[in-house]
Amino acid sequence: MSLVLVVEDEPAVRAAIVEGLALEGYDVATAGSGEEGLALARERGPDVVILDWMLPGMSGLDVCRTLRAESSVPIIMVTARGQEVDRVRGLELGADDYVVKPFSIAELVSRVRALQRRQELERERAATDHESLLTAGPITVDFTTMRVTVSDAEVALTTSEFKLLVQLASEPGRVFTRQQIMENLWQSLYVGDARAADVHVKTLRRKLERDPARPALIVTVRGVGYKLDV
Ligand code: CA
Repeated sequence: MSLVLVVEDEPAVRAAIVEGLALEGYDVATAGSGEEGLALARERGPDVVILDWMLPGMSGLDVCRTLRAESSVPIIMVTARGQEVDRVRGLELGADDYVVKPFSIAELVSRVRALQRRQELERERAATDHESLLTAGPITVDFTTMRVTVSDAEVALTTSEFKLLVQLASEPGRVFTRQQIMENLWQSLYVGDARAADVHVKTLRRKLERDPARPALIVTVRGVGYKLDV
């Protein structure tokens, strides 16, 4: 049974999420504060974390940053309506997805399922991929260790950044649309805002590019999308 950790300080919202997940057969752990959530995440090793942004004490942002530094557990951030900046910050700090309040429980559960499916596919792929090395220009991806190097220097990537890089590096020079990028990240039809792709590209550039302000590897093709130029 999969364990979902719900970090949310509003009891009514928390209860609704727990009920929705339990109905779908998930095991659920709950925390009412960031500190408690972090402790539970460390103790129980959940399969997915649903993390509210606005928490008393340690914020969802801080929890996200701390968790991401320690593990690759999928994180869904819950943000208030209109907090575009929060969404972008959350993705930059390694959240995998976000939902905006008020959201439907069905939508949240489907996001949890999609994230899990994605994790499983990644594991399968890592286990069965005979091509253990992918190289494109200065970039090398080692699928057996999930390590990425640029000009022999190792870079630490989030799961989303890793997937995005593999997509671009598999076909250098090919232009991928934002929609294609998001569908690759999700391994399914993506119905959310495709501009989320820009955020993932931005964070990846920050780790790969010599000068992220003037990217030379991941190039923007105006009005279309992105390509790897090596
Ligand atoms: Ca809250």
